Amino acid sequence: MDDCIRSEIRVLKAYEVPSAEGMVKLDAMENPYGLPETLRADLARRLASLDLNRYPDANPEALKTVLRQAMGIPPEAALVLGNGSDELIQMLALAVAKPGAVVLGVEPSFVMFRMIAAFVGMRYVGVGLRPDFSLDGPSLLEAVRSERPALTFLAYPNNPTGNHFDPEVVESVIRTSPGLVVVDEAYYPFTDRSFLPRLLSHPNLLVMRTVSKLGLAGIRLGLVAGPAAVLGQIDKVRLPYNISVLDQAAAQEVLSRPGVLQEQAARICEQRAVLAAGLSRLAGVTVYPSAANFLLFRVAQASRVFEGLRQRGILIKNLSAAHPSLADCLRVTVGTPEENRQFLQALQDSL
Ligand SMILES: *Cc1c(COP(=O)(O)O)cnc(C)c1O
Repeated sequence: MDDCIRSEIRVLKAYEVPSAEGMVKLDAMENPYGLPETLRADLARRLASLDLNRYPDANPEALKTVLRQAMGIPPEAALVLGNGSDELIQMLALAVAKPGAVVLGVEPSFVMFRMIAAFVGMRYVGVGLRPDFSLDGPSLLEAVRSERPALTFLAYPNNPTGNHFDPEVVESVIRTSPGLVVVDEAYYPFTDRSFLPRLLSHPNLLVMRTVSKLGLAGIRLGLVAGPAAVLGQIDKVRLPYNISVLDQAAAQEVLSRPGVLQEQAARICEQRAVLAAGLSRLAGVTVYPSAANFLLFRVAQASRVFEGLRQRGILIKNLSAAHPSLADCLRVTVGTPEENRQFLQALQDSL
């Protein structure tokens, strides 16, 4: 039976989600704050009124309008919605997956770019970042010229490193690239930098966003914005009804009051500074600058420290085996002030 499974699938390891039961969960860049009670009550009423016997709105214009307003999407840009941005990455790859076509990314970056290239049978080329995790402009542009990628992904800020890339280098990748260039702004709530204003200056630029890191990871909703000529084609590979009735209604209810999650994002940014300062005070810890809701840091014997944290009830992400340049690196999501204190104490004890 194994013979019928493609070899590039057989060599993959499934995306791993460790159990976090009973732990302080700081591994997945979730917003640690719940929704306020009044909003929960409104949400409950709205969800109770839905007709779950009916298929969802296949092209939810009202939801798109709310998303445009909440995220400041230029009115001229077209939108395609996905069941999380993961599904959008897959749709984009599916639409360009000619035999031999290449997906270009940087390493280390978000693992789904590479995994989804394998899912759809495309060749993935990853250009290494510099030791400080900045873009290696000359190598990247050389790869664009020699590989002629159909699809390029750049996360801005990058996951798992947390930094912003030089926008001028990104701009020259967009200009040089024969294919689509997707700037993945999953962490837009925690930075004021964006490629949205440049969207309509380039026929091949797409900006992807998600509500996951903003505070709605439990509903699966992402969007890609860009030229109608491109997104009209991408939309053809979207499965009908990909955003559920419940997800559509919940997103509309919460995002029509964007102040709630924006205020939480502002608190997370404040706590990011507190957490970074706490980490940098610990001997033997190197913390990297971050424009996202997590911090990457390096210690001696990261796997031992990770295990020490786990035994003390704190779950973060061990990246030490993810890429050679991440040797001894760990990633922690910014939590509530209390969670961050517990994490710093447990880290100190584990060190
Ligand atoms: C978390 C993350 C995503 C996934 O977003 P979903 O909308 O939850 O699928 C996409 N890109 C990057 C860079 C991420 O870190």
